[in-house]
Amino acid sequence: MALVDLVTQGSNVPLTFPVLVYHKVDPRFEFSIARISPNRFKSHLDWLLRQGYQTITISEAARLVRENQLVPDKTVAIVFDDGFDGIYKYAWPLLRERKMTATVFMVAGFAGKQDEWDVKIGWRRFRHLSWDQLRELSEAGIEIGSHSLNHPDLTRLENDALQYELRESRSILKEKVGCDIRAFSVPFGTSSPLVSDSVMDNGYESMVVVRSGPYEKTNSGMITFAGVCVYLTTGYNRLEGALQGRPPSLLGRMVQKAIGQCARWTPLVKGRPTYP
Ligand SMILES: [Zn+2]
Repeated sequence: MALVDLVTQGSNVPLTFPVLVYHKVDPRFEFSIARISPNRFKSHLDWLLRQGYQTITISEAARLVRENQLVPDKTVAIVFDDGFDGIYKYAWPLLRERKMTATVFMVAGFAGKQDEWDVKIGWRRFRHLSWDQLRELSEAGIEIGSHSLNHPDLTRLENDALQYELRESRSILKEKVGCDIRAFSVPFGTSSPLVSDSVMDNGYESMVVVRSGPYEKTNSGMITFAGVCVYLTTGYNRLEGALQGRPPSLLGRMVQKAIGQCARWTPLVKGRPTYP
């Protein structure tokens, strides 16, 4: 594990760069706080614009950090984990109308399929983006990154399986979408030194984990961004806190902990993916 350098870029305090992590944008109800309605998403975008924010992709932010440039003030990354088709149907038209961009982190093994990997309460299943939709988004300037192949908790995988998830998801996305895949977002937001090193060894240049605080750059050049999840329960106070790099409230931390527990339960309910 290379030494981690808190990026200060001439300042005395480590610099933060806000990354807002969304999951589903969809009007259809489900028993989950990970879904927000298109109307609420639209309100978030308009609120960001009123505050003077502009959006950039994760790899563009990574390039600025790598070149020791300052990420401009009032710049935010909007990220979608999992790659549901609500991004194409509902979120993308709202972003496009406002000339805003985003990064989609795709569960590569589930393109065009239902979310069978997900443990949920209730009956409703949601479809993932198809390869055609991913290509169209990519051609329109939305960055496509990897969110693994099967959405396992990477910190609990054997090394061979970990390497397979990172390598195969990148290779399939590259082949099917036809663009370079440079960014990775860890499933369930949880990472470890081994996961982080392996992400870099598999050709990615930056990654997103769920936590608050500054971004980090290792001596070998790997950049890790701190992402803040935006849920149904996230109010504007918390959004503002996320933009300013403030840690979440006790309730926010409890919600995040509950999501972490889901990571533990998922293999018990769904079984572990099999690897060649
Ligand atoms: Zn996910």
